[in-house]
Amino acid sequence: MQGDAYLKCIDSQCGLEYPITNTNVQCDNGHLLDVKYKNKPNESLKEVFAHRGQMDKNIIFNESGVWRFRELLNFCEIDTENVEECSKYLVSLDGAEGRQSKPYHMTKASSFIGIPSDKLWLQPEGYNPSGSFKDNGMATAVTHAKMVGAKKIVCASTGNTSASAGMFAANEGIQCDVYIPAGQIAPGKLSQAYQFGAQIVEVDGNFDDALKQSLEDAKNHDGYTVNSINPFRIEGQKTIPYRALEYLGWESPDWIVYPGGALGNTSSCGKALMELYEWGWIKKIPRIAVINSEGASTLSDLYNGKFQGEELRWNKGKPNADLVCQYYDHLDNEGIRPKTKATAIQIGRPANILKGLRALEFTNGVVTTVTDAEMLDGMAVVGLNGFDCEMASGASVAGIKKLIEQEIIKKDDVVVGILTGRQKDAMLPVDYHNDPNNRFAIPPKI
Ligand SMILES: *Cc1c(COP(=O)(O)O)cnc(C)c1O
Ligand SMILES: [Zn+2]
Repeated sequence: MQGDAYLKCIDSQCGLEYPITNTNVQCDNGHLLDVKYKNKPNESLKEVFAHRGQMDKNIIFNESGVWRFRELLNFCEIDTENVEECSKYLVSLDGAEGRQSKPYHMTKASSFIGIPSDKLWLQPEGYNPSGSFKDNGMATAVTHAKMVGAKKIVCASTGNTSASAGMFAANEGIQCDVYIPAGQIAPGKLSQAYQFGAQIVEVDGNFDDALKQSLEDAKNHDGYTVNSINPFRIEGQKTIPYRALEYLGWESPDWIVYPGGALGNTSSCGKALMELYEWGWIKKIPRIAVINSEGASTLSDLYNGKFQGEELRWNKGKPNADLVCQYYDHLDNEGIRPKTKATAIQIGRPANILKGLRALEFTNGVVTTVTDAEMLDGMAVVGLNGFDCEMASGASVAGIKKLIEQEIIKKDDVVVGILTGRQKDAMLPVDYHNDPNNRFAIPPKI
């Protein structure tokens, strides 16, 4: 389907369009871009996807939890049934990205939250090859990098992006530079980037500073940016809700809940739902709930009117972008730095904030915050169910609990919470369980 895919600026007044081979992550006026498709996929593909998942185990693109849905992210404009063509274009970790992720009931988590166990689903994205949901989007971003002949991918990272980018780069035999806020990423994530042969660039500052520097360096030195500001990352991450919806027989849950960092996940879930709804593949739009850390609460502050009393909205494509700038100036002037032990969401300037707002408007979403202690309880209770997740992912559990207590999520609502990554900060659970004051602590015997 040549000529089907293109890029379009998300701003309704700007709306600049670019060919699909464009590598700028923003339009010429500095707005975010969307990958768009002219043709509408046929709903009978639902059958094809189900069949691929169960039967064709010897084709990696059918095993992959991302490329199984390749007709819905076909920006390479290939013949998706032609395996040779898939092999030539699509980048995959031997089909492993997204393969192990599906929603589960976790009874200890549901009783902690206070929701019937058959109403709560938690989807561990930590069971991806590099240990976080980032592999879903990295598969597509690196596919685009390969399509345009990039020799080097570049990212800033709180840890998991660099682990994922490093793994894909090593697999593809291309270079990878990762910009990290020095001393602020979990050792288990940093060691992965080294292990996969990435070039580490230490930035004296926080994630927001690292992102700024990596974007400048990518521009000046022919690097291809794979942060979630890249619209192709967003395409791959659409498969996270696809897998949840497919597992639920394409019956929409009432809620899908994510921790909020740079808001790539929020944006991709929103885009996935907008498209599925437009095509008539889902009849009901799930509401998105985004859970910020109390220490890094930009979206919550702006969305809930805690800054200058205005509730920031997408406003049908005309958001008050000045308010976001004023908020960032306020952070700078007051010397406010994002601060939480959940380093994956320790982000003050969420690069995808406007796409995030669009997702919230489309889904009638909500945003709230949780404390570090609440996230740790969330992380711990997931562990007691025999599942692994990191502290930032505990925000999903803690956030659902808070929203139930506030009766925003109703007790008979069906809720899917995304557990974004697995534990890579070995001492967090040790410290948690050694403190008998913690709710789920099982201290060692002496
Ligand atoms: C990257 C990351 C997040 C934040 O996701 P965004 O899409 O940036 O909002 C949350 N949890 C984990 C484990 C992550 O790696
Ligand atoms: Zn624009």
